[in-house]
Formats: sequence, C-alpha cells, structure tokens
Amino acid sequence: MKLKPCPFCGNEVEVEKIPLWYGNGHGYKDCYEFKIRCKKCGCRVDQPENDSVYRSEEKAKKNAIKAWNRRVFEPPINVSEAVRRKNNETKQ
Ligand SMILES: [Zn+2]
Repeated sequence: MKLKPCPFCGNEVEVEKIPLWYGNGHGYKDCYEFKIRCKKCGCRVDQPENDSVYRSEEKAKKNAIKAWNRRVFEPPINVSEAVRRKNNETKQ
C-alpha cells in the first residue's frame, strides 16, 4: 500500500514500527504498532485504535497507512460525517 506525501510540506513520510513488548513479561510479544511520520516537519498519525496490532503486524501496518492517507486527502467535513465514517469502519 502506498503512502501519500505530507499534506503540510509535501515531503516524503516514513513508517515507524514500535514494538509492544517491554520485556520482563510486560507488553505483547511479537506485536507492533505503527506510526506514520513526515521526515521533514514531523507531523504524525498514530496507529488507529483497533485490535489489529494484537493480531497481525501486516494488518496493523495497513490500518496505520490507511489512516494517514485518509487524513491527507479526505478530512472529515464535520463531526457527524466523522462519526458516520467511524461507524462504517467498525461495520466492515
Ligand atoms: Zn511534512
């Protein structure tokens, strides 16, 4: 899946992979969350809140990229639109 460029400066963005395992029996072994960050201005989208990070690394990454791409080109017009989209997401 392709990452769209930063909406603010047009620069390339990178995917940051963060392990959820903190050692000493804490956290989730072999699980990762992903953040998308602009290399230049540092604006960032965090891993969307769902349980994909605990199931599939690939899926978690896709969800993070989807969240970034959506923010870049389809900002919610208002709150009710945002809620409608959120509801659609959970249905799928
Ligand atoms: Zn930027």
